[in-house]
Amino acid sequence: MRKGKKILLENLEVQSYAAGGKSIARIEGKVVFIEGAVPGDVVDVRLSKSKKDWAEGKAIRFKKLSPDREEPFCSHFGVCGGCKWQMLPYEKQLKYKQQEVSDQMHRIGKVALPEMQPIAGADQIREYRNKLEFTFSNKKYYTQEELDSLPMPEDGPRGLPSIPALGFHVPGSFDKVIDIDHCHLQSEPSNAIRNAVRKYALEKEISFYDIRNHVGLLRNLMVRLCTTGDLMVNLVWGEDDEDVRMGMMDFIKMSFPEITSLYYTINRKFNDSLHDQEPILYHGNAYAVEQLGELKFKVSPKSFFQTNTRQAERLYSITKEFADLKGDEVVYDLYCGTGSIGICISDKAKKVIGVELIAEAIEDAHENAKLNNINNTLFFTGDVAQVCDDVFFEKHGRPDVIITDPPRAGMHERLVQQILQMRAPLVVYVSCNPATQARDLQLLAEAYDVTAIRPVDMFPHTHHIENVVQLKLR
Ligand code: SAH
Repeated sequence: MRKGKKILLENLEVQSYAAGGKSIARIEGKVVFIEGAVPGDVVDVRLSKSKKDWAEGKAIRFKKLSPDREEPFCSHFGVCGGCKWQMLPYEKQLKYKQQEVSDQMHRIGKVALPEMQPIAGADQIREYRNKLEFTFSNKKYYTQEELDSLPMPEDGPRGLPSIPALGFHVPGSFDKVIDIDHCHLQSEPSNAIRNAVRKYALEKEISFYDIRNHVGLLRNLMVRLCTTGDLMVNLVWGEDDEDVRMGMMDFIKMSFPEITSLYYTINRKFNDSLHDQEPILYHGNAYAVEQLGELKFKVSPKSFFQTNTRQAERLYSITKEFADLKGDEVVYDLYCGTGSIGICISDKAKKVIGVELIAEAIEDAHENAKLNNINNTLFFTGDVAQVCDDVFFEKHGRPDVIITDPPRAGMHERLVQQILQMRAPLVVYVSCNPATQARDLQLLAEAYDVTAIRPVDMFPHTHHIENVVQLKLR
């Protein structure tokens, strides 16, 4: 049925789950990828794309709800892009993630696989993030319900007042921010801090950042809560007004004595990234300390650290198990970030060599090794595809085990060729994107067999998947 130019498909029975949080229905031999629905729903779908044998669109009406559905626990669900899978019970989320890995491996990788081990689900499925970043905006995002309850101004919706907000961006819309009242991703006092900062700012009439005109004082708020209890806050300002700033920073310091590191940053640039900015310590310690098992890690305001600490422990322990170390191996930790994998496995290796692109992360890696009295690790800054050549491997020792943990794009093909040439007896491939991992496994299949595979759920209620694969030289 056609409505205007948009095609509307009615009464589609959603059958299964597809990659990327979408689900699938089939109609007249065509596969329809649907956003916002779960298997078991019957929905009307407005198509945004329609090709010969597939289409995609959004569920706009629910005729029947799947018996598998659960009531979402967050009042911001549906608007916020954060936890899109709250309507699915956790066991179903895990089942679909497991299935996606399996599908990707078969469809893209086309390699022989051992039986997959069951996905390592999280014990803690709320308040699992150690870090959240909130955005200030002079433009609050109005939900449909709020719009419906407002009297329509004479000059139409454009006349809506701009209300300041502190929370998360609306997915795909950078100038509008959802005013978050309670986020279930981080434990208290995360919500209390954010809400108190907002209240104080509104009372004192401190301006919220206006991204279109690049003006306004308050810009971002980062809250890091470690499993050790360390609590770091960094308040980012778009301009500096010393009196206002001091007032706010003192207010935060007095109201939340549990903060162990209080920072502020003045970011006058056009973008929010802090990598080239200088956070200034206002009160407390320069570092927060996070802990993985017995090991401690110093985290500075700009450092990267796995966002789900408990599941990072699981991920690393599976990685360690797959590395199958006896104690006399030369291990390479490629795409090592702040060296956390290398440091966690170093007690079982003769020597660990980490390589990472970001120089600051390598500085953290050195610090972290020192903090834990580890003396058998070396860390190098550089592009793995450039650094890891014959001379490098010759210099630091032929690899017994290579651990690789690339970003979403997967490994550079040159690195894959280098691994094939080095013929390390064992490779552990940690991936945050099973599609690119499957592609790389197919290339590695020339000399390697996949001998173990286990997904890990780092981000409950999202469709993100982490997957660990063990490969052995044939
Ligand atoms: N293993 C780490 C980090 C993995 S994230 C951990 O568990 O915490 C992937 C890392 O790869 C990032 O730190 C990113 O900076 C780095 N990276 C991306 N491209 C790279 C490249 N070409 N060479 C080296 N490192 C790279």
